[in-house]
Amino acid sequence: MTIVTRFAPSPTGRLHIGHAYSALFAYRLARDSGGRFILRIEDIDQDRCHPEFEQGIYEDLTWLGLTWETPVRRQSEHMPDYRAALDKLMDEDLIYPCFCTRKDIAEEVARAAAAPHGPEGVLYPGTCRALSPAQRKEKMKNGLPYAFRLESAKAETLLRGRNKWPLYWHDRGKGRQEAVPGILGDAVLARKDMNTSYHLSVTLDDHTQGVTLVTRGEDLFYATHLHRLLQELLGLEIPEWHHHPLLLDKDGKRFAKRNDSVTLQYLRETMGKTPQEVLAIAGVS
Ligand code: GLU
Repeated sequence: MTIVTRFAPSPTGRLHIGHAYSALFAYRLARDSGGRFILRIEDIDQDRCHPEFEQGIYEDLTWLGLTWETPVRRQSEHMPDYRAALDKLMDEDLIYPCFCTRKDIAEEVARAAAAPHGPEGVLYPGTCRALSPAQRKEKMKNGLPYAFRLESAKAETLLRGRNKWPLYWHDRGKGRQEAVPGILGDAVLARKDMNTSYHLSVTLDDHTQGVTLVTRGEDLFYATHLHRLLQELLGLEIPEWHHHPLLLDKDGKRFAKRNDSVTLQYLRETMGKTPQEVLAIAGVS
């Protein structure tokens, strides 16, 4: 089977040394096995994404010596696809509108005697799951903005009823995993300002683009549990995953786009580094 990997940055800032590591990780796995490497622009958040950062991605990756297939898929050009997937889940009654603000959620969590917790902290307490159809209608009529959340327990029940449970996935670093889809709680599948979310679009795109090996940082390991559930609900192909360790700076912190001194542009233009030197900093030789 031909391996298809991808690197899927968001053009919300310049790429940094951690991105270089991640991009090379995917690129080399494809290249060394005679596979294909895809670059995808994850720009659903149009307020935070800018064309100059997209150009920066092409510039930086070219400088590092990477090549990729064209045309490059831009998520912002496929919003109807994400909406169709959302509609499918809605038809199965697995989605509910959530009117909560961050403040509402924090207050509810503080009030609740036992707020649900996941491995990454507090989960959405489910406030809007309990709203009646009439209450939902009323809030919508009043113009309250809403997101759409996946009712994870219901999704699990549905799959159990279809004998599609438990769900497994293979991680090249960690081995066979049993998915715990409720691990992120009732995740947002469509944000208030758009008809999709990271989770929905990334899962659909990896399927649409025929990605067979999803590589990304360990920070997204738990997201994979949810993605595996979405694949099953939407009838999508199941790839393999490889979550790689995150590159840390000398203080043990993750590199951040807002820290200009670690961007590839800065290292190239201001520090005069060569691609080889940058790759050495990233621990890739
Ligand atoms: N757009 C995501 C990011 O920049 C990519 C996540 C993924 O590879 O699934 O973090």
